[in-house]
Order: sequence, then structure tokens, then C-alpha cells
Amino acid sequence: MSGEPMSWEYAPAPESRDIANLKPAYRMFVDGKFVDGTGEPLKTINPATEEVLAEVATASKADIDTAVRAARRAYDKVWGRMPGAERAKYVFRIARLIQERTRELAVLESLDNGKPIKESRDVDVPTAAAHFFYHAGWADKLGHAGYGPNPRPLGVAGQVIPWNFPLLMAAWKIAPALACGNTVVLKPAETTPLTALVLAEICQQADLPAGVVNILPGAGDVGAELVNHAGVDKVAFTGSTEVGKLIQRSLAGTGKKLTLELGGKAANIVFDDAPLDQAVEGIVNGIFFNQGHVCCAGSRLLVQESVADELLAKLRYRVSTLRLGDPLDKNTDVGAINSKAQLDKIRELTESGDSEGAQKWTSPCPMPDKGFFFAPTVFSDVQQSMRIAREEIFGPVLSVLTFRTPEEAVAKANNTPYGLSAGIWTEKGSRILWTAQRMRAGVVWANTFNRFDPTAPFGGYQESGFGREGGRAGLEAYLDV
Ligand code: NAP
Ligand code: MG
Repeated sequence: MSGEPMSWEYAPAPESRDIANLKPAYRMFVDGKFVDGTGEPLKTINPATEEVLAEVATASKADIDTAVRAARRAYDKVWGRMPGAERAKYVFRIARLIQERTRELAVLESLDNGKPIKESRDVDVPTAAAHFFYHAGWADKLGHAGYGPNPRPLGVAGQVIPWNFPLLMAAWKIAPALACGNTVVLKPAETTPLTALVLAEICQQADLPAGVVNILPGAGDVGAELVNHAGVDKVAFTGSTEVGKLIQRSLAGTGKKLTLELGGKAANIVFDDAPLDQAVEGIVNGIFFNQGHVCCAGSRLLVQESVADELLAKLRYRVSTLRLGDPLDKNTDVGAINSKAQLDKIRELTESGDSEGAQKWTSPCPMPDKGFFFAPTVFSDVQQSMRIAREEIFGPVLSVLTFRTPEEAVAKANNTPYGLSAGIWTEKGSRILWTAQRMRAGVVWANTFNRFDPTAPFGGYQESGFGREGGRAGLEAYLDV
């Protein structure tokens, strides 16, 4: 199916923004209460319209200190001593409340982040709830997790998360920490603080003891202050490799336990025997899901030379049918880029692809006249040395390279400083296993891509970081083992 895309007229199908219960101002959550921060308040915007959504309190150095002390008290007096079976009830309640408030959280996430409502509704929020359900189940079974008969928590966890999956990343961080008996001080990203603050309301609704979870909005300096605070025993960071390196350097020698989930430049490998129409769906999901703001995005397509032309024609046709626009419209496939800064970064790297001689194809989709949008883009004739093959673009831009033999595919796939994920498309089970064994990547998907499940450990090799989140392996990061 190549050639001109058919024309499908859709009626607008917007979700109502009233469901988000948006408030003009949000406060931070410390010691079980919403309080004014003494930092400079920030304004969070809707990247699809550039309008200000709300003013949000931020933490000063003194506020960080207050929150860490509250977390310490809660750890020493209540949470660290509570039997796992009791902790489980709170974690389970949080999961149930996320489910009850799913629509509100999904609309709020799409407003603050720019991601399509069908993603926040069908992926982010249900997966966040799933992380709390899954970890509620572990809280009273830690003695059977393979870390000794009575593994102890670490204490106070300082956690810093990025803007691409704001609620889901908060869930990835908070659920295992609480299940293992730790208390938490979490800093959401500057551009997407709102759903983490609704999660704080949910903690209140669940009657979580004061100080067990504290949420401190702010910019990078709040993150730096938090991870370096002497009262923090464990640091969990998800974000860029650049900031991850800074944190690792500043924590060296402090004895704090550290996990880093950083960037990626995943290879999505299509062999000549792959079912191409299915592979096209997986390629599209791999790089255009969440506007490509996915650390494990399949941003490098490696396709076997003999099927490259056929696959590219099918891919361009399919990408040209993606609907870009209003994130709250239920028919939208590609939403807004989260910030002007990220849009500038995507443009700059795309220009480098042009000037280094790759062939650019851009979807002819109509573009909204306001907001931060970037049309889905596919570069072919990409060489390994080009910046678009090496650097993380973190946007809806795919770089296509070709290979002739499986050995060449493996060599090219592993030729990256990162190692977070990889994809393999082939009809042969033996080829899946042969290739997967050779991938230097934490997650390898076969004939699918971007599948997330709380039972499966997620994490990187090399500059994609260390430590695992999810599954039994993910508990280790929050236990004194
Ligand atoms: P970033 O700049 O590293 O920011 C991540 C978080 O760290 C934000 O909350 C940020 O605050 C904060 N921060 C900034 N400077 C800091 C410092 N010196 N010390 C402590 N915290 C600091 O990353 P980003 O650009 O927002 O996110 C995109 C990157 O995250 C990509 O590279 C992506 O691959 C990676 N990522 C990885 C995963 C994973 O699981 N491996 C998941 C999602 C994203 P501000 O918001 O104020 O900047
Ligand atoms: Mg925002």
C-alpha cells in the first residue's frame, strides 16, 4: 500500500478539559500537607497552546531540608517499622485511587505535557496504577525476593524525574520505594509538575502517614540540592546522561546508593524475512509514540538492504496517515513537543541531518498555527558517523540505516555509547534469540516495541545508566543488600 494516502475526514473528538480540575495555583506537598514553597513560583504551560495553566510553588534550600527531615521522621517512627502487610494496604489504596481518578489524571497530563489523550488515557495512567498494584504485592513478600530472609529498606530516597512520562515516572520511583519501606522526597520536572501534585493528593486520600511521600517542584537546582542533601540515603534519577554524570560525580564517596536511568539511541532491526506491515506498525510505535520523547525509543531503524525500499515506501505511507494536533482530541496520534527548548533541540539536530547529507522526508500533515509541534520526519541514507545516528534527538525523527548480514546488524546496533533498548523483527525464533543475545541493551523487544510492564526490569548498559526498575530486580535498588 504505497502512493497517495487516502483522505479520511474526522470530526473533532475533544476530551473536555474541565475533567482535569485544573486549579490556578498548586502548592508543594511536605509532611502530609500542601504548603507554600519559599522558592520562586513557576508557571507551567500547555505546550499545545502556549497558555499558562497554573502557577506552582517551588522549593528553596530550606524547604528541601524540611522535606528530608519529615521523610526521616516518617521513616524512623512509622514507615520503616511498619510490617510489610500493612504497607501493602496503603500502596494498594494508592493504585485504586489512581484508577478512580484516571480520566482527571489523563486530561491533566495531556494538558501539562502535550501528549495525546489516547496515550495518557491508555498507557501512562493505567501503567502508573499497575506499578502500585504490582509493588503492593511485594511489600509483604520481600523475604522471598532473593535478597535474604529479612531485607531492610535504605531510608530516605531522593528522586528526580523527567517530563516525558510525568505521572508514570513518579509511579516507577515511588511504588518500589514505599513497598520496600523507604520514604521519599521527589522532584518532578519543571515543565510538568501537575500530575505529581495530584498524586500527592491521592497519598492524602489514601491516609498515607505524613512525611512518607513529599513532592517538591522546582528546576534543576532543586534536583541538585535534593540529591546532594546529607539526609538522603538513596538517589534515583531518570533524565539525561549529562545530568546523570554530574550526579554520579557529586555522589562519589558519599556512600549513597544510586540508580541512573538515562538516555538511549535504540536500534530497531528489521530482517528481510520480517512481516513488513507488522514491522511498520512497530517502527511507528517505536519512534512516534509520545512524540519520540521516549528514552527507549526505536530512533535508529536498521533495515536489511534487500527489503529497504519496500519497507520505506510502506513506512512513509503509514506515517503520512498519523494525525498531528490537539492533544485532547481522541483521534490525535502525535501531540505537542513538551517545550520550546526541546523543539529547538529537535530542529537543530534535524538541520544537522540535512547538512550532513541524509535524505529527509517529512509527513505532509497539517500543522497547528500555535504551540510547539514538529511533523514526523524520516531520514534515510543515514551513515553511522552522522549526529542523527549517534545523538539522542528525543523527538519524532527516525534515522534509517541499512545492513546486509546479521553480523553487520549487530555491529551497527551496538555501535553507540548508549544501551537502553533494542527491537528485532523477523519470522524466525532462532534469529530472535541469536540477535537478542548479542544486543548490548537492557530491554530487547521481538516483533513488538515500547511494551511496558511493572513485572519486567527496565534499565541500561553503558551511558544509558545502571540499576533496574520494575520486576524483582528493581527491588534491589530500594533494599540494603
Ligand atoms: P534532564 O535535563 O536531565 O532533567 C531530568 C530531571 O533532572 C528534571 O527534573 C530536571 O529538572 C532535573 N535536573 C536538571 N539538572 C539537574 C541537576 N544538576 N541535578 C539534579 N537534577 C537535575 O533531562 P530532560 O531533558 O528533562 O529529559 C530528557 C532525558 O531523559 C533524555 O535524555 C531521556 O533519554 C532521559 N530519560 C530517560 C529515561 C529512562 O528511564 N532511562 C526515561 C525518561 C527520560 P528540570 O525539569 O528543571 O530541568
Ligand atoms: Mg507544562
